[in-house]
Amino acid sequence: MVKQINKLTPKFTTHADGSDATLIMHELIGEQDGPTIGISGSIHGNENAGSQAIVDLFNILKTMPIKGRILLLPVANPRAMALNRRFTPLDELNLNREFPGNANGSYSQQLARAISTNFLEKIDKHIDLHSGTDRPTVDYVYILNDEALSRSFGSTVLYRPVEDKEGTSFDGTTKTVTIDQRGISSVVVELGGGIVDQTPYVKRVVDGVLNMLRFLGTIEGEVVPAPKQIVVNEIAGIRPTQGGWLEPLCPPLGQVIKKGELLGRVVSPYTFEVLEEIKHPYENGIMILSHLSRNLVESGDYGFMVGNMEGATD
Ligand SMILES: [Zn+2]
Repeated sequence: MVKQINKLTPKFTTHADGSDATLIMHELIGEQDGPTIGISGSIHGNENAGSQAIVDLFNILKTMPIKGRILLLPVANPRAMALNRRFTPLDELNLNREFPGNANGSYSQQLARAISTNFLEKIDKHIDLHSGTDRPTVDYVYILNDEALSRSFGSTVLYRPVEDKEGTSFDGTTKTVTIDQRGISSVVVELGGGIVDQTPYVKRVVDGVLNMLRFLGTIEGEVVPAPKQIVVNEIAGIRPTQGGWLEPLCPPLGQVIKKGELLGRVVSPYTFEVLEEIKHPYENGIMILSHLSRNLVESGDYGFMVGNMEGATD
């Protein structure tokens, strides 16, 4: 069984309303020694499927035998999550570009420093849970520095970014501390979001993380073999250039999109005109992010993400 459960609330500053700015973490310590697995959610405050999954994971894990320690940071950016915002409302910074942080910097930089000191520097493996927002839905897992661990989550599509490719910068993400400074395994999961029931996505996050914990030997049980997986090295993020109703026309996530098929179109809510037809850029692509309902978008919002099947591997 779990030997001990602790709630940890290190304070890093004081808010203007007088309340303490704290990290809220939960530590599950097993009977047996082993590595510490850190699991975090909502580093982007409008991507909360991971935070939902951590609630369920805590209730499952607290009844299980654990080898080592699990450290949960369910809401990495509380002020952003409370307002459903990607950026921290106090300084409008992207917390996930501010690592390793600065104790004398702006609010997000202080928060990043507190997360580095109290979480990222205290763990041996990191699982960072992201999702789509309340508009698009996303489904893939990054391969950063531990391919086997990334695969054990069990998603169909994985993405191995090519660092020097134009537009691909991970400077200041949690990876700056976990991989660059400390050399520990780090996996970023992107799953869920959209104006659709989140229950099946949250369940897949829970099941995927439990499988990773079995793979790592933190909990007992057979590792569920992954489905047939595709690893892409290139992803195109395609944004609508017009605001209006974004109507998806593409295949479901994880499915191949052929040359000539449209991703979607933007229709004016006012004149009913088709303002834009959105094409995918590759000969053959695989759907990674999409809108699953007719959503109102601004020009330049997240529209679609497609993986390039050319150069993709099993
Ligand atoms: Zn994110």
